[in-house]
Amino acid sequence: MGGPDWLYFTLAGILGVLSLWLFYRGLFADRSRGRKRCPKCFYDLSAAPSNTCPECGRVIKKPRQFHKTHRYKGRTAIALLCFLLAGIAGLYPHVRMVGWTTYLPNSVLFRLLPTVESERDALWVEFERRVEMKTDVGGPYYYSPAELILDLSDGQKRLLARSCAKILQANRRQHLVVASLETICELGPAAEPAVTAIVEGLQRGAFVDEILAIDALGAIGEGAAPGVPFLIDWLAQGEEPRKWEFMRELQAVSALGEIGAPAKEAVPILRDGLRSQQSMTMSMCALALAQMGSAASEALPDLLALARDQSKGGAASAVFAVVCIAPESDEVQEVVLLAVGAEKTAVQRVGLEALAVMPALIPQAGRRLHEQLSSEEESRRAAAILGLRPLAPPYGAGVNELKEILANDESPIVRAEAAASLILMSRDGDQDAEAALDRLLESDGGLAAQTLRVLGWKPPEERADEAMQDTSKSP
Ligand SMILES: [Zn+2]
Repeated sequence: MGGPDWLYFTLAGILGVLSLWLFYRGLFADRSRGRKRCPKCFYDLSAAPSNTCPECGRVIKKPRQFHKTHRYKGRTAIALLCFLLAGIAGLYPHVRMVGWTTYLPNSVLFRLLPTVESERDALWVEFERRVEMKTDVGGPYYYSPAELILDLSDGQKRLLARSCAKILQANRRQHLVVASLETICELGPAAEPAVTAIVEGLQRGAFVDEILAIDALGAIGEGAAPGVPFLIDWLAQGEEPRKWEFMRELQAVSALGEIGAPAKEAVPILRDGLRSQQSMTMSMCALALAQMGSAASEALPDLLALARDQSKGGAASAVFAVVCIAPESDEVQEVVLLAVGAEKTAVQRVGLEALAVMPALIPQAGRRLHEQLSSEEESRRAAAILGLRPLAPPYGAGVNELKEILANDESPIVRAEAAASLILMSRDGDQDAEAALDRLLESDGGLAAQTLRVLGWKPPEERADEAMQDTSKSP
């Protein structure tokens, strides 16, 4: 409808006044004004001899009832209609400007989505405006998509998931399908009602972006268990020998991991993946098995073998996986102790993190690492110092021990590790470590002092100067 805004406001004004007048006429105009009337048919009873209405036979019991106001239903109904029309006319210019869809509550909008056939439909445009990051400064929608979805109640999330599922089933245009899959990814576990639609769509090859659909199954997690057989078939098509080097397979591996223990039947195929020549594939399979926890215990022997073979790319992930699957197992504990002294920092880091959840192993780990300090190979000695660094006393390395290494070890790599440990200890407030470093710097113009210099350790007077500057800078 065209016409300038003032026309609608004038119309609203006229209808508003009219409705007020009709309300008055319908509800308050016909009062008794002292007349005695029948409260039922409003026949004039001024001259009536008894309390019984001669017109309708109503018996009036209380005198108050003679003075009831006559209210008219018809006029009041018309008044109400005029009031509504006035409201519509008054809002119309705004609705015309922002679109009627803005007024829809989320739950109504979500319910209507499956009827949409094109992304240019006003409903869809409004949906994307709410869910996507269409930041409109000053407007009501300053949410990022994840935030909008976080704000929805569980019921609304499931409603939205069901609508997305209907869009997937209805073979809509790819734009709508992709947006629905992305929405499901954002909804996460609450999108469980969409699982069947996703799996069916994958089976009939309905999605151009299959990886996104697999990603959506992963985002749903445990609830996506009905998709496991499809994912297994999908992986079974991967070709040897460069098995699963592509995103399409790796995404399926990752989705199986997200589904976790309910994806147990995928353990055998993930075990195959551990024997891949691709370190990325080995790592991803190990991590997926880790997410299944004890449900993946069948894969433990393969994972232990990979975890012991630290030359392999997937070793670090394998250590992580065996800790997740069977932390109590003796073999797993042995692997963690090996990892703590490993030369590969990635493997060592996982081993040290495992000690945090397996504190009973710390004394043994400390003992092993101290033994490793007298290894013939410098890389083994360096790894031992690194491994001892996060261990709390009395299991870690002491100041004297490190001082000795710093002064005597012939390997610059080992000396640098020892110096770095002492510097970290002094930063933690260990005054013995600080004093030891200072003495070395003074007494020894040779290798140890050079190492310290390279690592940024400064003589006491320089440190004092810096401290002065720091305090003068701060207000
Ligand atoms: Zn009457």
